[in-house]
Amino acid sequence: MRTFAIQNLGCKVNGYESNVIARMFEADNYVQVDYHHKADVYIINTCTVTNMGDAKSRKAIRQAVKRNKEAIIVAFGCYAQVSPDEVAGIDGVDIIIGTNQRHLLVDMVNNYDHSKQKIVIDDIMKVSEFEEFGFESYTKNTRAFLKIQEGCNNFCTYCIIPYARGLMRSRSQKSIINEAQKLVEAGYYEIVLTGIHTGGYGIDLEDYNFDDLLIDILNQVPNLQRLRISSIEINQITDRTLRIIKDNPRIARHLHIPLQAGSNEVLRVMKRHYTKEDYLVKINEIRKVLPQIAISTDLIIGFCNETDEYFQEAMTFIKECQFSDMHIFPYSPRKGTPAAQMRNMVSDSTKKERVKEAMMIAEAMKCAYHHQFFNKEVRVLVEDYDIITKMYYGHSSNYLKVFIKDKVNINEFYQVLIDDINNNITGIIIK
Ligand code: SF4
Repeated sequence: MRTFAIQNLGCKVNGYESNVIARMFEADNYVQVDYHHKADVYIINTCTVTNMGDAKSRKAIRQAVKRNKEAIIVAFGCYAQVSPDEVAGIDGVDIIIGTNQRHLLVDMVNNYDHSKQKIVIDDIMKVSEFEEFGFESYTKNTRAFLKIQEGCNNFCTYCIIPYARGLMRSRSQKSIINEAQKLVEAGYYEIVLTGIHTGGYGIDLEDYNFDDLLIDILNQVPNLQRLRISSIEINQITDRTLRIIKDNPRIARHLHIPLQAGSNEVLRVMKRHYTKEDYLVKINEIRKVLPQIAISTDLIIGFCNETDEYFQEAMTFIKECQFSDMHIFPYSPRKGTPAAQMRNMVSDSTKKERVKEAMMIAEAMKCAYHHQFFNKEVRVLVEDYDIITKMYYGHSSNYLKVFIKDKVNINEFYQVLIDDINNNITGIIIK
C-alpha cells in the first residue's frame, strides 16, 4: 500500500485542485496520510501570490524532504510555474509541475523511478484549454468548491497571478454541470463557484457567459440548495446577474467584490479599470435590488503611490460603501510585476499603522452589518461543532457565521432566530 500526503497553500482554487489530485491518487490505490506523517509521496501545491507564499512553499517542500528522504517529492502550482529554478534548487525535490498538466501527476510519480522525468513547465501564456482532471473535489467539509475557470486577462500592476495561471480559460458547461450533479448526489447542499477570475467565466466562449451558467446550474441541479459565488469583479456584475440572484433564493446573498484601493489615483496606477464612483454606483444598484445583501471586499494598503491624502480618501470611501466584511492586505511588491519596479514605496511602519486604522473601520462596519440581524431569522447550514464555545455553527446565505445553542446535525439546514450578536452571532433554532 503506497501512501501520499498533500500540503495545500494559497487560495480556494488551489484547495479545489489539491482535493481533485488527492482523488486521482486514491483512484490509483494510494492511501492519503497526514502531511506530518511519513509518506511514500509528498505533494505540495505551491502559492506565489506574495513573497510569503513563496517562503511557505519552500518551507513545506523542505519539511517533506526531512520527513522521508526516500519519498518522491512533488512541487506544483503557481510558485513552481513562476520560479521553477528556485524550486529545482531545493535539495530533494523530484518532480516539478507548473499550473498545467497536473492531470499527469500520478503517471509521473509511478514512472519516476525509471523515467526520472523531473520538470513539466508549460509556457502558460500559450495554454488556451481549461485543464480537466476528470475527478470531483470531494472534501470532508459541508461546502464543496467547484472550479469553473482558469487564468486572468487583467494584469493588475501589483498581481503575479496572470503570469502564474495564464489567460482566461473557461471550463465546459457540461463538465461543470456534471460535477455539480455529482457533488449534490454525494450529499453536498452548498456549492461555491470558484476560479481565478470567477465572474470572467465565458469571456473565451461564444454566446455563453457567467449569467447563463448560473441559470443552467440552478435548472439542471434542482436538488442543490445553495449556490455561492466566491468572488466577482465590479465590472462583471450585470443587471441580468442581479435579476438572476433576486429571482433565485438558492443563490447566496453575499457578493465578494474586490475594491483594492479607495482612491482613483491609486486605482489608476493599479490598472483596475474602474473608478471609486463606478464602484459605489454599482454597489448601490446591488443594494436597491437586493437589500441587506452582504458585500465584502479586498483592500490593499500601502500601494506604492498611496500618499497620506489617498489613504484618508480610501478610509472615507470604505465608510461610504458600508462593507459587511473586509480582507485587508499590506502591499508586498511581487518580483516580476510592473508595480515592483515602481518608486515611492510606502514604509513598512506606515503600512502597519494604516492597516491598523483600516481594520478598525472594517470591524466597526462588520458589527453594524451584524446588528441588522439581531432578532431576525436566518437559514443556517450547520458545518461543525466548536469545542471552545461548545456550540454547533454554520453560515447563513449572507455569510453570517452563526453559533446555535441547540443540539443540531451537521450538514443540515436550520431556521435560526438570532438572539445575541455581541462576541459571536448566536441563536436558537425555530421549530
Ligand atoms: S483581476 Fe487583477 S488581482 Fe485579480 S487575478 Fe486578475 S490580475 Fe490578479
